[in-house]
Amino acid sequence: MAKKLMVVIPCYNEEEVLPETSKRLIDKMRSLMDKGMISADSRVLLVDDGSKDRTWELITQLHKEHELFEGLKLSRNRGHQNALLAGLMTARGRCDVSISMDADLQDDMDAMDRFLEKHDEGCEIVYGVRNKRDSDTWFKRETALFFYRFMKMLGVDITFNHADYRLMSNRALDALAEFKEVNLFLRGLAPLAGFQSDVVTYDRSERFAGESKYPLKKMLAFAIDGITSFSVKPLRLITGVGILIFIVSLFMLLYALIAWLSGKTVAGWTSMLGSIWLIGGIQLLSLGVIGEYVGKLYNETKHRPRFIVDRYLNRQGDDPVVDR
Ligand code: UDP
Ligand code: MG
Repeated sequence: MAKKLMVVIPCYNEEEVLPETSKRLIDKMRSLMDKGMISADSRVLLVDDGSKDRTWELITQLHKEHELFEGLKLSRNRGHQNALLAGLMTARGRCDVSISMDADLQDDMDAMDRFLEKHDEGCEIVYGVRNKRDSDTWFKRETALFFYRFMKMLGVDITFNHADYRLMSNRALDALAEFKEVNLFLRGLAPLAGFQSDVVTYDRSERFAGESKYPLKKMLAFAIDGITSFSVKPLRLITGVGILIFIVSLFMLLYALIAWLSGKTVAGWTSMLGSIWLIGGIQLLSLGVIGEYVGKLYNETKHRPRFIVDRYLNRQGDDPVVDR
């Protein structure tokens, strides 16, 4: 029997791309249905992440006009990862497989066929990996590359060049639901869930219209979240630096003693100034890193909901998800 697919798409101020995206989705879903790869009751879940433009109106209209579309409206903007999670948790239990993708048509929809084939072969999770990044700016490409390398170095299990274009079976969604953390970094959580998985490569194209919703500031925050949610190595690094400085300071002490004994004590202004700045800088940096983790702890212990659903537009009269 063909499986029920739910495509989950977070949308934040995407009025410019939604008409085109929905058109292409209708074609894509039709062709998948015709091929018998997905069931006729498969759906596309558009998640409105508190958009300020006409995104929700467009979603409501799509839902009215076409049975393919369901809509989920968050009570406010919660960011890409939370919006995606809200969508996935809504899809959970309502489908056999979910595929998450961006609204801006950067993810090649034709890769979905291969995603579904991998699922047939027994994969619970399939990662979409872009095979080239020429559509990104030089800066975005290089920083992203550095980020993936850095994550690997810190021992985080992360798929190179995988964003959030991903197939997750209902079993994988059940597993994802067990992760209750507030600091979300979904592409790191999926590997933690385990299961048989595979990779499908695709060409990532340019954003169809509108601007990136990930300015540098958000990108940096996202990267720091990713690192500190998945690795405590930065804390160990601080300990390492501390030990190193302690050893160096022993030599400095020895040097100072010898200088004192030989009566050359007045000179040394440069080394004094240098070490004060250096040690002060390292201490502040270390405090910052520790603070980053303390902040994480603070947020996790409060256990605030990761998203709050305002409306859920669907044809079977389901209530919005409560498991958040
Ligand atoms: N997005 C969201 N909430 C946000 C920011 C982004 O739901 O606060 C969505 C956005 O609508 C898009 C996806 O996340 O579908 C990826 O964003 P974008 O394409 O702007 O990121 P980029 O591809 O530039 O990294
Ligand atoms: Mg994009």
